[in-house]
Amino acid sequence: MDGNVQTTYLVTGGAGFIGSHLVEALLRRGDKIIILDNLASGSQGNVPSARDVRFVHGSVLDAAIVDELVRECDVVVHLAAAVGVKMIMEKPLRSLITNIRGTEAVIEAALCHRKKILVASTSEIYGKNASGPLSEDADRILGSPAVVRWSYSTAKAVDEILANAFHRERGLETIVVRLFNTVGPRQSPAYGMVIPRLVHQALRDEELTVYGDGTQTRCFAHVHDVVDALVRLLGEPNAIGQTFNIGSNEEVTILELAKQIGEMCGSNAGVRMVPYHEAYEPGFEDMMRRVPDTSKLRGLTGWVPQRNLRDILTDTISAARQEGSVLAP
Ligand code: UDP
Repeated sequence: MDGNVQTTYLVTGGAGFIGSHLVEALLRRGDKIIILDNLASGSQGNVPSARDVRFVHGSVLDAAIVDELVRECDVVVHLAAAVGVKMIMEKPLRSLITNIRGTEAVIEAALCHRKKILVASTSEIYGKNASGPLSEDADRILGSPAVVRWSYSTAKAVDEILANAFHRERGLETIVVRLFNTVGPRQSPAYGMVIPRLVHQALRDEELTVYGDGTQTRCFAHVHDVVDALVRLLGEPNAIGQTFNIGSNEEVTILELAKQIGEMCGSNAGVRMVPYHEAYEPGFEDMMRRVPDTSKLRGLTGWVPQRNLRDILTDTISAARQEGSVLAP
């Protein structure tokens, strides 16, 4: 809450993985929340039943609902998107439409009602730029538009450009965040993200699938740290009109990650190397390295991640065990 005033946030995608953790953090501060979610990848079970939370089952493509909810709130946090490389590869057209038209509808409503808006973008923006820590102004290096993966990066770049143009030309208060790999409880293994998948496999003593040669690296941030960064930026007037990376800079190869998960879960099944063309499709292009430079975020808000990879894995594994035990007969 800002002082004694209760702020109402519209969180699109608020029933999803990151959205639901943000909703909980805002609730703890005493804010009110309206969630708009079509439950495509989110889940009703993620929505807290609290007086200050209102859940609307609907799509960001529905301009009338979006307009009505934006009018009712004070601040918009636009997280709703088709996410995950697997989902993008399987449903490229739906992903494009959601990520471009949906964001356009939400930003236009924010302009119409003069509401501050935070727009979630992605580290996919940087494409194959595998140089050291990537600062917000690093180059984008993309393959051919015929490679489906790059359509996600392109759609999110359109979202960012729209947000920036509305800020510069119409005075809309915007904040753009580029989320790097984010992990934690409630992230479903169904959308292809590596940690929930490997944990799911390890807990069932199945072989851990490592794509390519496993030398590609990523940095994984705990969702609670990512939410902390979002909350700090939302409360920082100097964040307006700017773009921020959010992510960890603890770099790990996917092969090392798989071994660590196998050990922590007590799995004996070992690792199975899967060529990219089998895991995705012929011509698939991966990023070999993706490390954020988060000095801009730290400089403005003092944010540093509080949890390391081991903490993240401990938390994720214990949440997956609990979910598994709930599912067990
Ligand atoms: N990956 C893997 N095994 C899996 C799923 C993913 O080796 O079962 C790899 C994937 O090819 C990529 C990395 O893990 O190199 C991270 O994949 P994820 O989809 O989680 O995120 P992103 O590619 O968007 O960073």
